[in-house]
Amino acid sequence: MTAFDYDVLYIGSGHGTFDGAIPLAAKGKKVAVVEQDLIGGTCPNRGCNAKIVLDSPVALKRHLEEVHGIVTGDVAINWAANQEHKHEVIAGLPDFIQGLLDSSNVDILFGRGTLVDNHTIKVNGEEKTAENIVISTGLQSNRLDIPGSDLAHDSEEFMNLSEMPARVTVIGAGYIAMEFATMASAAGSEVTVITHGDQALRAYHQPYVELIISELESKGVKFVRGVEVEAIVGGANGLVVRGADLSVDTDWVLDATGRNPNVADLGLEEVGVKYNEKGIEVDDHLRTSVSNIYASGDVIDKTQPKLTPTAIFESTYLMHTFAGETTDAIDYPVIPSVVFTSPRVAKAGITVSEAQANPDKYTVVENDLSGDWYRQVDKETVGKNTLIFDQDHKLVGATEVSNKAEDVINALLPAIEFKFGATELERMVYLFPSIASQAWGQL
Ligand SMILES: Cc1cc2nc3c(=O)[nH]c(=O)nc-3n(C[C@H](O)[C@H](O)[C@H](O)COP(=O)(O)OP(=O)(O)OC[C@H]3O[C@@H](n4cnc5c(N)ncnc54)[C@H](O)[C@@H]3O)c2cc1C
Repeated sequence: MTAFDYDVLYIGSGHGTFDGAIPLAAKGKKVAVVEQDLIGGTCPNRGCNAKIVLDSPVALKRHLEEVHGIVTGDVAINWAANQEHKHEVIAGLPDFIQGLLDSSNVDILFGRGTLVDNHTIKVNGEEKTAENIVISTGLQSNRLDIPGSDLAHDSEEFMNLSEMPARVTVIGAGYIAMEFATMASAAGSEVTVITHGDQALRAYHQPYVELIISELESKGVKFVRGVEVEAIVGGANGLVVRGADLSVDTDWVLDATGRNPNVADLGLEEVGVKYNEKGIEVDDHLRTSVSNIYASGDVIDKTQPKLTPTAIFESTYLMHTFAGETTDAIDYPVIPSVVFTSPRVAKAGITVSEAQANPDKYTVVENDLSGDWYRQVDKETVGKNTLIFDQDHKLVGATEVSNKAEDVINALLPAIEFKFGATELERMVYLFPSIASQAWGQL
């Protein structure tokens, strides 16, 4: 039998890797991780963690605006201080994660990894072999293929802005576009959002998305919908974003037109790993078209949301597979998702449109949260939720738009995932008063 350098070798060190690689090595497997950039990947360094620090004063500002009169005085976000705070919170994360990898005896190979054959990866000119390889290379920001695209910036550059520009134009309609438009507007920028189609956040309940857009518009954000951006040009007074019948003067452009899988120049074609524009193709064991090469995290072509919890679930599943603890196919749980706008929109399970298309299977209950006494504590002005039940009156889906939508959906998750009936629900005792206690309040 050939002796390999490692049992498992991962390319990429994000959540698609480290949540599984650390316990796998702790179980005695010989594990290595190849990383060309910061340890921990996108989420801790230039995604979730960075963003939520920057969003914290944005959410607080909204709260203070709602209780204005009870709390008095002007509120403004000092973006430079916010940026400094973000740095304090996240700067230590790569070392922290590296410490976890080191202490479990995971080897870290710094450099760009490429496949040489189905058992070999080349890093910095050196070849390392492994019985199994996991490709977990994530996504990178799309760049519009238009004249002047180099004048636009991506989400990472936005999160590193030391000063918020006076005028920001956001191109895109996904969660990054909507969240960053919210932040820029709250930080005092004049914001224009240009969307290619007519809808934003297409995966979410559209009446709730429209509520978010109205809130943003009431704060002065301009939405220009159904426009194809054709060029970005330098002007006498900053930049101009151009399309048919469109000309927006601006200082800074965020290209939030999507994220593409990191599959280029990895040696996938040479080794026979199949992929398409949505990512690497895998079977229900996360195995690629080459039987000992797996994929994990955002780089996979999948229907589940490309988010951190999905990547963690996949890397943990692979850990159990490589440890010989399961041969089962991956069985995804209900994966919730949220957009950190002001207010937020969050969802889990069966969607409203799916339920409405199958009235024989589902009952849809909509609640206007303005009647809920607990929401009035914070003088919350916008809030609705929709609960979806199956024929046995078990909760199978929920979506909410409110300042605390993520907490409400988290509170409902166990019931959706484990299909709680009346007996289990009676045993769900929440702290009172708290937002979780109100998640079921409407029933
Ligand atoms: C702005 C932004 C905000 C986000 N907010 C949220 C959020 O609020 N909640 C949430 O759940 N998710 C959020 N996400 C998504 C989340 O960050 C990803 O789902 C998660 O990071 C996926 O982990 P991953 O390991 O698959 O990929 P990544 O974390 O992207 O890791 C891939 C790693 O592979 C490395 N790599 C690539 N190619 C090579 C190579 N050839 N050799 C060596 N190394 C290589 C990269 O350097 C990178 O470190 C956000 C993403 C962005 C961009």
